Amino acid sequence: MPSTQSKDYYGVLGVKKTATAEDIRKAFRKLARKYHPDVNPGDKKAEEKFKEISEANDILSDEKKRKVYDQLGFYSDQIDPAQAEAAARGGYGRPRSGSAGPQEVPFDFEGFDFSNFEGGSAAQRQAGSTAAGGGWGGFRDIFSGIFNQQSGGRQPQRGPQPGTDLEYTVNVDFWTAVRGGTARLQILRQETCPTCHGKASSGAPMQCPECHGTGHVTQMGGRMKFNIQCPRCGGSGRIQESCPTCHGDGTVQRAETIEFRIKAGTRDGQRIRLAGKGNAGVNGGPAGDLYLIIRSGPHPIFNRVADNIEVSVPVRVDEAALGAKIDVPTIDGRAQLRIPPGTQSGQKLRMREKGVPSASNEGHRGDQIVTVEITVPQVRDERSKEILREFAHLNPDDPRAALWSKV
Ligand SMILES: [Zn+2]
Ligand SMILES: [Zn+2]
Repeated sequence: MPSTQSKDYYGVLGVKKTATAEDIRKAFRKLARKYHPDVNPGDKKAEEKFKEISEANDILSDEKKRKVYDQLGFYSDQIDPAQAEAAARGGYGRPRSGSAGPQEVPFDFEGFDFSNFEGGSAAQRQAGSTAAGGGWGGFRDIFSGIFNQQSGGRQPQRGPQPGTDLEYTVNVDFWTAVRGGTARLQILRQETCPTCHGKASSGAPMQCPECHGTGHVTQMGGRMKFNIQCPRCGGSGRIQESCPTCHGDGTVQRAETIEFRIKAGTRDGQRIRLAGKGNAGVNGGPAGDLYLIIRSGPHPIFNRVADNIEVSVPVRVDEAALGAKIDVPTIDGRAQLRIPPGTQSGQKLRMREKGVPSASNEGHRGDQIVTVEITVPQVRDERSKEILREFAHLNPDDPRAALWSKV
């Protein structure tokens, strides 16, 4: 029976066998930055390399997996770490003290095909069930621990897999976010491959060349031979040619322009979910979702804070002192604002429900907050100067009096 190749995961990451978890993490990060498909679009070699370092990292960054790998020189999800440790020590097969049943338990498993044993004969099963407290029963338990079929490995013959979600940031102008509208965006998404219709394979299934159709391969682990599920065909013994269009991915990348509606009152940073507009699934799996993060643009005078609009409005000295009704800009156009007598510079006046309609709470609107900015007149004519001097004479209060009292 053919063997799967042992992989030098330490070599792949360029670290020593004594490397700490931190060393491994750092080495992987460095290589991942270099070989990430996003950095090397269309570069098949980089993609392969990235897969390799990802696999090495997957095994070595997981304490349990790394232990199995260190002990056996390979890793399989089907091998339980504790059992692997015991197997590496060669501790199996010693009959337990006081155990009943057959004692011809093989001590050295060299060349022993576990898969044949696993099935067992009716007579052996019978023996196992009658051997109370150990013997064959215990022996079989050990194997079911090693070859845990439930844990599952990678499955080259893939079932339906859901597509991944996509996330895009969309910049919209101030008014589109406030009033709503439609926006367009070009996205890159994985679509179902038109050649294989997402099946990822083409033609009829054929015998797996790795295991010659048996579904199992042999791996050496210390002095022992492990008979494990074939990683190439996932134990099915059959593989299919990869689709020439999508190279077995089941999907192809396509640019698509999507048009979507933006609700009035959409806030900066808000997420819009377009169900099923993410990457296509494989083998009939559902498509992922597309998330759009809305970035709302600025406005020269309106500053939007959630559903409120903030605006600074210049007010004349006389308007502020005597009080006035002035026109101020709002997102709906001009609106009247009453300036109370004695309004100070920097004072904030609230215009209820003159803000942005809420996108989440229908019928509600934010407020407009007006910051009063008192402007000082450029006095040029003598008459005005005279009036101001007279005004000062009538109002001699020191506006800095409060300052002095605190010094
Ligand atoms: Zn295809
Ligand atoms: Zn195979």
